[in-house]
Amino acid sequence: MNHMKKIILSFLFFSISLTSLNAQVKTPDEFLGYALGSRFTPHAQIVAYFKYLAGINKNIKLVDYGKTYENRDLMIAIISSKDNMDNLEQIRINNLKLSRAEKNANLNNQPAILWLSYNVHGNEASSSETSMKTLYTFAQSSVANTQDYLKNTVVIIDPCLNPDGRERYVNYFNSVSSNVPDANPSSREHTEPWPRGRVNHYYFDLNRDWAWQSQVETQQRVALYHLWMPEVHVDFHEQSYNDPYYFAPAAEPVHQDITPFQREFQITAGKNNAKYFDQNGWQYFTKERFDLLYPSYGDTYPLYNGSIGMTYEQGGISAGLAVKTASGDTLTLKDRINHHFTTSMATLETVSKNSAKLVSEFKLYFENSVASSPGIYKSYVVKADNLSRIKKLAGLLSKNHIDYAFGGEKTLNGFSFQHKKIASFKVGRNDLIINLKQPAAVLANVLFEPETKVTDSNTYDITAWALPYAYGLNAYAVKESVSGQYPAVEESPNSEATPVSPYAWVINWNSIEDAQVLIALQQANIKVRIAELTFTVAGKVYQPGSLLVYRAENEKSHKDLSNTINAIALKLNKSFAGVSSGFVDKGKDFGSSVYPLLSSPKVAVLAGSDVSSQGVGEVWHFFEQELKYPLNIISEQNLGNLDLATINVLILPDGSYAQKNIEKLEGWINQGGKIILMEDAISSVVGIKPFEIKKKEYPATSEKENRFISYGEKDKDNFEESIPGAIYKVNLDKTHPLSVGLGDVYYTLKTDGRLYEPLIKGWNVGLIKPNAFIAGVVGKNMKKKLDAGLLFGIQTVGKGNIIYLADDVLFRSFWESGKQLFVNSIFLTY
Ligand SMILES: [Zn+2]
Repeated sequence: MNHMKKIILSFLFFSISLTSLNAQVKTPDEFLGYALGSRFTPHAQIVAYFKYLAGINKNIKLVDYGKTYENRDLMIAIISSKDNMDNLEQIRINNLKLSRAEKNANLNNQPAILWLSYNVHGNEASSSETSMKTLYTFAQSSVANTQDYLKNTVVIIDPCLNPDGRERYVNYFNSVSSNVPDANPSSREHTEPWPRGRVNHYYFDLNRDWAWQSQVETQQRVALYHLWMPEVHVDFHEQSYNDPYYFAPAAEPVHQDITPFQREFQITAGKNNAKYFDQNGWQYFTKERFDLLYPSYGDTYPLYNGSIGMTYEQGGISAGLAVKTASGDTLTLKDRINHHFTTSMATLETVSKNSAKLVSEFKLYFENSVASSPGIYKSYVVKADNLSRIKKLAGLLSKNHIDYAFGGEKTLNGFSFQHKKIASFKVGRNDLIINLKQPAAVLANVLFEPETKVTDSNTYDITAWALPYAYGLNAYAVKESVSGQYPAVEESPNSEATPVSPYAWVINWNSIEDAQVLIALQQANIKVRIAELTFTVAGKVYQPGSLLVYRAENEKSHKDLSNTINAIALKLNKSFAGVSSGFVDKGKDFGSSVYPLLSSPKVAVLAGSDVSSQGVGEVWHFFEQELKYPLNIISEQNLGNLDLATINVLILPDGSYAQKNIEKLEGWINQGGKIILMEDAISSVVGIKPFEIKKKEYPATSEKENRFISYGEKDKDNFEESIPGAIYKVNLDKTHPLSVGLGDVYYTLKTDGRLYEPLIKGWNVGLIKPNAFIAGVVGKNMKKKLDAGLLFGIQTVGKGNIIYLADDVLFRSFWESGKQLFVNSIFLTY
């Protein structure tokens, strides 16, 4: 088919064809030296073309907003009419005032802001190609309608949200593609190797990261987003190439805090997209598959920030330059670009035609947020049970422009997240208070409400994420308006100088920062011990898990011990306690075996095609970006040659491992190796020596219990068995080092139905007990199964250990309390 003809047909309303445009401005084809869609364009070339257009057109402004982990440029182009560009800063500031419900915000002539985000998933690669055509077309003064649209619309174009992932895909594809594209779906052009280009450098899905902002790409982009707060945001994706095109309106479940106008405008935009698709006879679907619930997507996050957030999905993952689809047609990259270009243009038309309405509804959204917050609660109070985690939670709120304060002296009644009932509590000095009387009320409520209402069980992602559970902090949802009194937490004064010559120094352990203290001490070759039991010296009670540095034991090898320790304390902003005698008032004296030496972990994680890229990426990111501790990344074929001198801790992330590889580990474990099995890595070792873990088996569902579904329901998930992601309470053995810093309860995010039998010879540190369900969608049969069983356990084998962590304790790097469990498993278990 002649695609150029199609474009001309579908864009008669732009009254031009691409070939007849302003002669002195190079088209993408002219600039790149090949026809757009005939090959994939490297990221640097896309950036170069944007710079080229901005260099010759005063109505385009480029903004660099940072670098990726692999040092590629992140940037947006802003384009509008000359008048708007001359007043761009006023427009931006006025728009921000609207988003803060400020009284002096001006509605007159305020243009709507439309933000087009291309290629958040790197291997959905047609959209960055499209972005060049979009910006080129918007920039042409001869495209009359477009120039009219830009009079009341400011367009922000991000050509590529995930340059590292996209480049991984493009490099792979360009290096394997044949001279003539091979449309055969089983050719290697359509079989992308592990870890694939969807994800960023650390294998994080950036379309799950908007609210958490764990990745630099998201951190920098969302900071920029909050400087603009667009009225409309479109996130361009691709789906399976056997599917056609999806655009809004979205599928159920739609979160109840999404307003009637937001839902209605999705229909308006969808119908205008449909008009152009209908003209061409192109297939599409709406109201299916892509729901609006989980808050970290490129559609929901803008929606919870007052925008019209929408996802557009072209069929195209793994399609290369051309692929034979199930219906026998050949889908080309040029087709995919045309479809994304069509919705880009149609959306600009929709936004422009509704610009005044969009801006006034945007204003109303934030006025309503302040006047009457959504949901049944007016405030949330999070107890400062762990100062490190409460500060991190406050940091997360700041990144999302949610207002908060600390402390008060009130006694209140509220819904207890821990006990799931109304209880009375006293507000403490460092308790974090979020009053929903604020412009960001919707986002705050979505992130904190104890239970998310879900209207349909078919959902794309997790159904529970309430931050108090993720951070492992007690909290209360309160029906009255409570305000905090202080802008920051009160730190316990570091006035007590670290003692110079005690019998032993004592260090607390309840945060990642404390792990960094241990790391610094061990890196200085200082021997560190752990207190397995509570002890009392000079009237002061020290908790199990406290770290001890005995002076005499270390002085022999460290002439300057006291100075070294003091320097570490100062550098990490900690003060260490000191005890003057090894004679303990209560508990065991310091010569007892309950104060074992901690070894210095030499850690490796496995990577490769049997490993979940998300699983290994979360471990890698945590070690490099948070813990700042060396990590070896090794591949499976090297499991036979593990040397304890170089690796004494091995992490197997979620994955499916070959028995022959697992069997190689027995000797290494026996000699003193520690292996940490995460999520489904555990399934791979069941039945293999020396692993004693057993899956919990369930009786088969009887036919009576089996619900027979009608043909009309055939596309529904088997809801009875489903668990898209729900929160369960785990009872911890708080006397075990694995649970230090967490107390006796951990809230786990369960994304599968796996439980294990308690270990007969081992420590059962984390158990699910009956009625442990806290929040989220869980099918009836699945709920019955998840009644009781083991999630976290330790087995000793010879001189070594096996640690079982059955759930993802590093989930998307936002499940903060799980990081404590993970750090304990690396440093405190021996
Ligand atoms: Zn996608």
